Amino acid sequence: KLILVTGANGFIATHIVQSLLQSGYRVRGAVRSQTSADATLKTFPESSQSLSVVIVPDMTVPGAFDEAVKGVDAVLHTASPFKLDVKDNETELLVPAIKGTEVLLGSVAAHGAAVKRVVITSSFAAMVNLTKGLWPGHTYNESDWNEVTYEYAKTTDAGTAYVASKALAEKAAWDFVRERKPQFDLTVLCPPMVFGPAVHSVSFSAMNIAAWDINRFFSGELEDVPDTGYWGFVDVRDLAKAHVRALEVPEAGNERFFIVGGRYSYQQTADVLRASPRIPEVLKKNIPLGKPGHNYPGPNIYDVNNSKSIRILGVEYRSFEESIVDSAVKMIELRKEA
Ligand code: NDP
Repeated sequence: KLILVTGANGFIATHIVQSLLQSGYRVRGAVRSQTSADATLKTFPESSQSLSVVIVPDMTVPGAFDEAVKGVDAVLHTASPFKLDVKDNETELLVPAIKGTEVLLGSVAAHGAAVKRVVITSSFAAMVNLTKGLWPGHTYNESDWNEVTYEYAKTTDAGTAYVASKALAEKAAWDFVRERKPQFDLTVLCPPMVFGPAVHSVSFSAMNIAAWDINRFFSGELEDVPDTGYWGFVDVRDLAKAHVRALEVPEAGNERFFIVGGRYSYQQTADVLRASPRIPEVLKKNIPLGKPGHNYPGPNIYDVNNSKSIRILGVEYRSFEESIVDSAVKMIELRKEA
């Protein structure tokens, strides 16, 4: 079977491509540029028979994916702007996320006759209720929605605009299938902070913001342990497998899944990295001390529920320790090459 993966050069997508190839699928990766196309192919030198790439320079142009979807059996949509250094929320975050999703689904409906399922990488960003803060006593699950509006997102801070772009893009996808009743069904995966070792061809400086989040702990830029932003994590390898399962499990159709390994905090990050024999002592000196053992996820912080993903998709989750230390070890390797 041939699977189209959008944003195939990204951190998460490369793990998805790897999982798909290992499971015997053929993959067509959609990327924005020749450089990204080359990087994607370079990552999988053994797979020249089963991996191809197609360049879609602007996914907001109607019909952008018309050629890319021809002959494919399913689509995994991961491409979406994931950055905070934006000058204009609307053109840099909201429009590409929302319009990109609508354009892709339009191309699949019109030219992807064989496509039975589209899987979208949404986010905990599409679930989080920003008005509730730490929301003691609440357990996030698939019924939670971020209700932030487009109008508000246009002029707010970039972090809120990013989470809005994910929520509004996911809503646009559900609206599309409800209104257009296409030949495919939809499965949506919502991961929180994604950790784990990068396998894509990327320079240290081009790592995504989740990677920078960890890098701060070694770089010496943190004087103290920062306040935790979002309290859920998942490992990229588990998330990639969840995408493959989302394609394969019939009952996953028209369902939304919270793909979350558990809770964590930045203090826990500092403590785990400092305790790990795999982290060089010289870098440990940069890790802020904070209050070791304190400010861990507890009853005063919202909880997370991953039972639906385990029950229906059969996802198995790595521990926070394994995920964060593997991420850090890979980051340290990339720092050396930089
Ligand atoms: P990356 O930045 O590594 O990958 C993002 C991918 O999206 C790249 O292929 C990028 O292409 C593409 N992309 C970005 N903007 C556009 C655009 N305007 N038009 C077309 N393609 C675009 O990030 P991740 O792998 O971490 O993210 C993948 C998906 O997972 C995203 O949808 C993100 O929102 C979601 N996600 C990520 C989380 C995380 O912690 N990492 C958490 C929750 C959700 P290019 O290289 O050309 O810029």
